[in-house]
Amino acid sequence: MEKDPPAAVSLPPLRDVIARHGLSANKAFGQNFLFDLNLTGRIARSAAPLDEGSVIEIGPGPGGLTRALLDHGGKDVIVIERDRRFLPVLAEISAAYPDRLTVIEGDALKVDAAKLGRAPRRIVANLPYNVATPLLLNWLAAGAAFASLTLMFQKEVADRLIAQPRSKDYGRLTIATQWRAEVRRLFDVPPRAFTPPPKVTSTVVQLIPRATPLFPADASMLERVAAAAFGQRRKMLRQSLRKVSPRAEEALIAAGIAPTARGEELSIEQFCALSRAFEAL
Ligand code: SAM
Repeated sequence: MEKDPPAAVSLPPLRDVIARHGLSANKAFGQNFLFDLNLTGRIARSAAPLDEGSVIEIGPGPGGLTRALLDHGGKDVIVIERDRRFLPVLAEISAAYPDRLTVIEGDALKVDAAKLGRAPRRIVANLPYNVATPLLLNWLAAGAAFASLTLMFQKEVADRLIAQPRSKDYGRLTIATQWRAEVRRLFDVPPRAFTPPPKVTSTVVQLIPRATPLFPADASMLERVAAAAFGQRRKMLRQSLRKVSPRAEEALIAAGIAPTARGEELSIEQFCALSRAFEAL
């Protein structure tokens, strides 16, 4: 059962705060803000429970989602924001929720989030789209350091995260993600929910990192094999995998995979078997 959120602290509406501080969205930082309290509340509730360990938010901007995380029980919320212009607004939120919000100014790509705060660590973010994929891959590489990742992506990226074999979205990103985490689509968010509205629909996805990857494989070999297989999607694997080794056909046969198959037909289990076969050549 979901707990009732604690009574919200009264802060002025976000639009007023933005106007008072003379803030506007900067495209270079992937800024599309959420002002809708129903939506920010829904994202925060999806990431519950927020009252244990630390909640880490990337790119709080003016703090709409940050406020929701605090209002829905976040006791130790840590935010990382690159755009200094938002620091005064975030300081106001921090003052309204004493001892519950820590603001880190910096590039989230350079911060080791697995070392922030205390376990269980949950990452929640309306991600800046230009760095969403590298951030996700960094967090996944940290193994089970995070209890959950509740993240908003462009829908087309979300589709790739949750894709199944034999579909157009199934590819490198699918393999890298599903090998390390359970992934589920939570809900779509239309462009009009953001200020300014982006061109595309967004999707909130939840990832639960696995304690150990789905099947044994060396991470960098798995990535090389997937990159080669999907780099030339239409080609048969005996051809596309020559990039990994001239003995690709031998590796395919050793892994029990037809050399004439294409990458999008292989399950993650087969990709892992193939990676092990390349290692063993
Ligand atoms: N969380 C806010 C919301 O939902 O309204 C803002 C989301 S906006 C899509 C992305 C935010 O990430 C912006 O505030 C932007 O400045 C910040 N950002 C962009 N690149 C970043 C980076 N490398 N590290 C930390 N923050 C970043």
